[in-house]
Amino acid sequence: MTATPPRRTLLIVPLTQPNPAAMREAVGQAVRAGADAVELRLDYLSQPTEEDLRGLLADRPCPVIVTARSPAEGGHGELSQDARLRLLEAAARLDAEWIDIELATLQAVGSLPPALARVAARKLIVSAHDFVGRPDLPALLARLEGGPGAVNKIAFAASGPEDALAAIDLLRASRKPAIALAMGEHGLASRILAAKFAAFGTFASLTAGSASATGQPSIADLRGLYRWADITPATKVYGVIGCPVGHSMSPAIHNAAFAAAGQDAVYLPLRIEPGAEHFNRFIDAALARPWLGLAGLSVTIPHKENALARVGTDNVDPLAASIGAINTVALTGDPDRPMLGRNTDYAAAIDALVEAMGWAREDLAGRRVAVLGAGGAARALVAALAHYGAHTTIYNRTVLRGETLAAEFDSPVAPVRAAGMDALPTARAEIVINCTPIGMFPHVDACPLPDDFDLAGVAVVFDTIYNPATTELLRRAARAGCRTVTGLEMFVNQAVAQYELWTGRPAPRQAMREVVLRRLSAD
Ligand code: NAP
Repeated sequence: MTATPPRRTLLIVPLTQPNPAAMREAVGQAVRAGADAVELRLDYLSQPTEEDLRGLLADRPCPVIVTARSPAEGGHGELSQDARLRLLEAAARLDAEWIDIELATLQAVGSLPPALARVAARKLIVSAHDFVGRPDLPALLARLEGGPGAVNKIAFAASGPEDALAAIDLLRASRKPAIALAMGEHGLASRILAAKFAAFGTFASLTAGSASATGQPSIADLRGLYRWADITPATKVYGVIGCPVGHSMSPAIHNAAFAAAGQDAVYLPLRIEPGAEHFNRFIDAALARPWLGLAGLSVTIPHKENALARVGTDNVDPLAASIGAINTVALTGDPDRPMLGRNTDYAAAIDALVEAMGWAREDLAGRRVAVLGAGGAARALVAALAHYGAHTTIYNRTVLRGETLAAEFDSPVAPVRAAGMDALPTARAEIVINCTPIGMFPHVDACPLPDDFDLAGVAVVFDTIYNPATTELLRRAARAGCRTVTGLEMFVNQAVAQYELWTGRPAPRQAMREVVLRRLSAD
């Protein structure tokens, strides 16, 4: 008899408390938090006995997976192989719903103990864990498929989000119900998309700090932020590519937007290490899997230029091509033109500025602007300011970088100059725009303007940083009587434009703005 696959992917909370009483208490907490099942990690209990297990299983409020993980595969403590096997046999006799044993342990003992053999085809999860890297997945899956278990489980360390896609390949290839997880921050997509691909289960920690493996989201994030209960086989997938992406607000803003608009979609953080080769490896892996349902990507530091290079200037809007960077990719599903790119930062930034001042974009003509920084955000702003005829000076730490940027957009009607940050005290600008990360979380007391910078005569200061929304620079500007514009407005504007490009529908702007404000005030 083979196991009947569960109707819905189980949300499993692993429990790693050091004593049975605490573990039993945690079972209740997990159920109240929305877990479908818990994994009792007996290896975390000190000297666990069959009586401990009996107590844990008595009157349990949800199904359980019992395991006593071997030290070689991430187990805790020093339980001998015999002791671990005895506990698993006891779990079988006590009718636990599932029992997890490592493939390596099975191979070491040669044949299953009778109590486990009797339930294997219904209850046995056979697992393999690799904490170093991606093993030979097809060979591993073949061994599990040929083994006695009812459920296959493979978990391995990911080095890029393409490893998460390789884990999903396993879910699709496995004939038995399966759990396939890429561990670490790079593998998060495999954990969240488990529901889309009918995995047997996924793991989420009870609290943010209690993960039993790296990259495990908390149950609150999985259910709240990532909309676990709404993920279906048809769910479209979106994400933000960057490094780091852990603090990005994009998952919160876009998932809130999809929820508010009732869209069957989920948005994930996709950490990709710096370098075009890493970016392209993921894009290749994603395009090779049209069944993934990947429909759109936000792109942030350090991949905006890599994204433009990959999408190609023919497939982006003209201003994005002249800026040399894109922050938005739409995946079309058309093999001849699989990706379209946009730079939504440019209009988002200019509109945040002019709307705060009650101006039209054209009112920028002739105004003196100081832009701090010469990176991606500065580039989008300088291109737009030049386009609308402002007179811009770029102040950058690396003067040559500022000069190169200035030379690209300089014209007789809209001059663009460059100087070092040390020239800031002599700046004569009506508009000051910070495009450096100075003052960004967690360095919230830093200010990009020197103490002797005179804000008298400056009408408006715009800080593109959105975390925190009110930076030290903006506090100082407000004290000096300047109007202030936060990066939050720019951030919401660019996300609204992304949403509308991807979905072709008006974005729920208010819901998007509110979720960012809520997140910022929670920090
Ligand atoms: P980027 O391409 O890495 O450029 C960073 C710029 O800041 C460079 O000019 C760099 O100077 C300068 N810089 C970095 N650290 C510095 C330091 N300690 N002292 C002096 N200068 C420093 O980054 P980006 O994409 O332009 O992003 C910059 C800022 O814009 C970030 O704070 C980000 O939050 C903000 N942003 C906001 C939004 C939004 O929607 N609100 C969107 C995009 C970006 P060098 O050339 O000398 O390295």
